[in-house]
This record gives sequence, C-alpha cells and structure tokens, in this order.
Amino acid sequence: MVIVLGHDVRLEDKNGIRAFLSEKGYQIREIVGQEETIFGAVGPAKVDPREVELLPGVKSVIPIGKPYKLASREMKKEDTQVQVGGVKIGGRRIAVIAGPCAVEGREQIMETARILRASGAVMLRGGAYKPRTSPYSFQGLGEKGLGYLKEAGEASGMPVVSEVVATDHIALMRGYVDLFQIGARNMQNFELLKQVGKTGMPVLLKRGLSATIEEWLMAAEYLMAHGTDNVILCERGIRTFETYTRNTLDLSAIPVVKKLSHLPVIVDPSHATGIREKVPPMGLAAIAAGADGLTVEVHPDPARALSDGPQSLYPGQFEKLMRDIEALSAVVGKEVAKIPSSPAFRGTAFSVSTDPPAGRGKTRVAFQGEAGAYSETALQGFFHFDVESLPRKSFDDIFSSVLEGKAEYGIVPLENSLTGSIHENYDLLLRYPDLKIVGETKLRIIHSLIGLPGAEIGGVRKVFSHPQGLAQCRRFLEEHPSMHPEPFYDTAGSVSFIAKAGRKDYGAIANREAALLYGMRVLKEGIETNPHNYTRFAVISRAEREAPEKPNKAIIIFSAPDRPGALFACMKVLSEKNLNLTKLESRPIEGKPWQYLFYMGVEVPDNAQLFAQALEELKAISEEAPRVLGMYRV
Ligand code: PEP
Ligand code: MN
Repeated sequence: MVIVLGHDVRLEDKNGIRAFLSEKGYQIREIVGQEETIFGAVGPAKVDPREVELLPGVKSVIPIGKPYKLASREMKKEDTQVQVGGVKIGGRRIAVIAGPCAVEGREQIMETARILRASGAVMLRGGAYKPRTSPYSFQGLGEKGLGYLKEAGEASGMPVVSEVVATDHIALMRGYVDLFQIGARNMQNFELLKQVGKTGMPVLLKRGLSATIEEWLMAAEYLMAHGTDNVILCERGIRTFETYTRNTLDLSAIPVVKKLSHLPVIVDPSHATGIREKVPPMGLAAIAAGADGLTVEVHPDPARALSDGPQSLYPGQFEKLMRDIEALSAVVGKEVAKIPSSPAFRGTAFSVSTDPPAGRGKTRVAFQGEAGAYSETALQGFFHFDVESLPRKSFDDIFSSVLEGKAEYGIVPLENSLTGSIHENYDLLLRYPDLKIVGETKLRIIHSLIGLPGAEIGGVRKVFSHPQGLAQCRRFLEEHPSMHPEPFYDTAGSVSFIAKAGRKDYGAIANREAALLYGMRVLKEGIETNPHNYTRFAVISRAEREAPEKPNKAIIIFSAPDRPGALFACMKVLSEKNLNLTKLESRPIEGKPWQYLFYMGVEVPDNAQLFAQALEELKAISEEAPRVLGMYRV
C-alpha cells in the first residue's frame, strides 16, 4: 500500500508510522516526490488500511491492487530516471545504447566505441557471457571481454552495460560494468534477480521471450524488492506465430507499461526484428510510441560478426538512425541525451558545466512564468542533472538574477516556429553584455485544455491563458463558441489561478505538466491549431563561467552601414569561408530610425579559425564591431 504523508509531517510521526508497519511485517520505502512524501509498504502482511489512516501524520492510504507494488505507478506518480554513470535514462530524454552483440576483441570494441560515441550513443553495450541457443556457438570472451569493454567505455567516455547470466558472475562483473543486463532468457531466473537486486546497482531488464507484461513487471518487482530502485525495462520482441522476423516487437507494450509503471522503458529493435534493415524503422516507431531510448546492435563489419551479424547495423546506418531520432525527438517533446565532448562537461545535454555552485546544493536556473511553464519543461530537458528551477516574473528578471548570481543559468525563448522571434530577449542579450548564450534547446508546444477534477469540456465557459496560447488554439476556441477566451499573464499561472478559483466552469490553456502540478485534469490534449509548433530557447549564463568545448554554433549581431551593397558585403565574407547561416534577422536600432542591427546564427566549423577570421573581416566593414552573443554546441 501507498501511505501519503502530510506536507508538514513530523519526524516522530514518521518514525511512529515506520515502527507500526515494520512490526506488522512490512518493508518500507520512502519516496520523496515533488509534491508529497510517501511510504511504500510491501510484504506478505495484511493490515486494514483504515487502521494506518488513523496514525498521526498520515494523509491517506492507497491500497495497490496490482501484484507488483514497488514497480507500480501507484507507488510513484513521477517517472523514475535511472542514473548510469553520467547518463540519465527516463524523463524527458531519449538515450541510445549501442554496441556489438558480443565483445570479440580489444580492437573491435575500441573502434566500435569511438564510432558510436561520435554518432551520439551515450552508453556502450557488449556481451561477454553470451546465452546462445547452441552450445557450439561463440560463448563470449568472459572476463577478458569485460576488461576490453570497460577500457573502451573509459576511452570513449561512455558507461558500459553487459549481460549477467549467473549469480556467481555478479561479484566479478561489478568491477567492470556500470549497468547489469538481465537477458530475455533469464527474466524469470528468480535467484539471479534476487542477487542482482541486492547489489543496488542499476539493471536493464529485458522482457522474456514469452512473458506477459505482468510477468515482466513482477520480475522488476523482484529486483526492487531486493534492493535496487533503478530498473530500466527493455522490450525486445516476443514469440508469436509470425516467423518472418526473429520476434514480434510489441510496440503497444510501451504505452501500456508507461501507464502501469514509473520505470523507464527502452526498446531493442535488433533482437526484436533480427533483420538489419528493419532495425531503424522499428527503432523510430518505438521512440514515437514513447520509449525512453533504444539499445541497438552495431558492428564495424557485420558480415564477420561472431554473433547476431544479420541484425547488426553498419556504423553508417547507425549514424543515420541517430539523425532521424534527433529530428523525431522534438515531435515527441524530448531531447536526445548527449555526452558533451569534454569530460569536464560530462552529465549535461550540451556544453554547460555541471559543477554545482560552491557551497550550495543544486544549480539554479531562472525561467519566466510560474511552476509548470513551458520554459520549465524546456530547462528540465536541457539539464541532465537535477536543478532548482526559479520562477521569475519577467524576462528582464531572468537576466538580472543570472547577472547578480542568484541563478547560475537562465532560460529564455528566442523564437517560435509559428509566431517568430521574441525580440525582447534579443534586446536583453544586448543590454546585458556580461551574459552569454551557452546552449540551446527546442520544445514542441502542445497545448492542453485544463480544468478542475470532475469538470467536463462541455461545461467550460471561460478559458484563461496567455494571449499567445489563446491565439495558437484559435480553431479549437472557434469550434467551442460557449468558451470565452480570457487573456492572462502566463499559461501555467492560468492553471494555478483556476485551481485557486475552484470553479468547474473555468478552463486554462497550458502545458499538461502544469495540470499535474496543480492537481488539475487535462480535459483535452493537443488543441493547438498547428501541430508544428516549436519554441527554441537559449540558455544564458555569466560569460566568465563558461568556456564551451568545441562550439559548433554562434549567434552574432552586427550593423551594416547605410549604403548600397553593405549587407551583401557582410554576407560575402561568410559565403567565401563556406560558413553556413542558420538565421538572419534585422531589428531597428533604438534612436536611429531606419538603421538596423542584424542577428545572425552561424554554424561554426571544426576549423574555428575560419569563423574567427570572418569576425575580423566583418569588423572591418560593419558600423560597429560585431558582438558574439554566444558560441556553444548543439
Ligand atoms: C543481447 O542483448 O545481447 C541479448 C542476448 O538479448 P536478449 O536477451 O533480449 O535476447
Ligand atoms: Mn545479440
């Protein structure tokens, strides 16, 4: 059962509840969520929940009807994010694990790791103990293979995962791997589950060849009941009557499990299909269905692979798959997890340093709006570690908070794909020369109509939201003439407003996260007129804090003199150096009618010297020296 504790529960009450439950034979896990703290109590005992509800400090008791408890969504409303080395799996990120079926030798795994890392994999896989159908097939290199795997992981900066097949390998393997894999054939090897669970290490749990979803979750429950909280579920295809593909990828298991459990779910399209050319489409389908990542077999020379060659991708195919996942990620509202190029910047989405500020706990990031705003969702996708998000009233407040050191970073929207640039933020970047753009992220904006629990769409009479939110849902509002749009200063703020008002005839248009946060209900999701609605955000920081490693993008600002061909001359500088422009936009200069500033996004090539030369040449021909608003890695 789940025991929800009051917000201000006293320590002595907590201890009292613990003592009561453990005396009755329960095991207790404390889970501290965003909004509440809960005790998860599991065990063979039976106690009347009403008895527990009467204990001081208890807000409510929810019995869990499912046979799996710790793994169940009832136990934890928020998605679990499993940390493996510097990589987090789950939440708003798509993590891709890749590597050969088996470690075949030092050269093979070192070379593969280098290529995979360059294409964007965040974790390296490779079997050292292979559970093969035939005793005459290659069985893996054992400990020697684990040594090569670890070395390749360290050299490429990726954590490593390998399959554990026997309880007596556990102690040895702990010294080599960051994540234990339990293979499909061992999903119900309960002794193995118990012993691996006891290590407390993260586990990648494959679904059994013919396991039901409930059996799979029960296997996760075994791991969790014995001591690990960090289980990643992996759908890898099941046995059906169809034999064309090696297995049948059960895509529907993804949304089903994500509803039943808080654990992250990834997909292995390689073992699911067994056919190389089917791997990318099924991998993409899995991401579209909501998977938190993939594990993919890649081999530098699949024709010579000692196992699973026919399903292993060529490195070039993997690179293409990663590009396609990148394009798809924004559509599903996620970021592809990345490991930045320098070890000093490990653990972040891009090039931002992870160092928490000296003497403080979490890194602070200022955003505009109230909790649950789109900007807050965007920053949670960008930072790969837990940050404290600080709501601010205005964009200017974000800049001043960062300048004054009240926040280490700020996040500001620069551009929306439907409504264009947010000029105020470009102007602020000019007004605060000590702040620089250190990264960027984009978010698909999916608006929801939100109402009180128990409210019905038909009963909503007033809809509150930021004017942009109302404008972007014009068609929906036209189709529901009984709903009157009411402009409000902030989208998430409108949700907190209707929550306080407590009126079932009030609705708000905002991010679905805001509905969860304020205990409201999503009445309809995806009501924006145009689904191609993306916002690009810049992450800003004090210039001296950051020195992004190998920047590949720059935003600069310059003014061209008012004479024929002046802008063309500036563009020519870039064109001659073969520098790609990603954006060009003009802004009037305050106090100088009909004179303009130009904002420009430029791709910085590997040879950064070319970019530096271009800046020098621009300086010679533009009115004022061009200003670099930020150089960073995307
Ligand atoms: C593997 O990942 O190498 C493997 C053997 O997978 P499964 O257990 O899913 O067959
Ligand atoms: Mn394999």
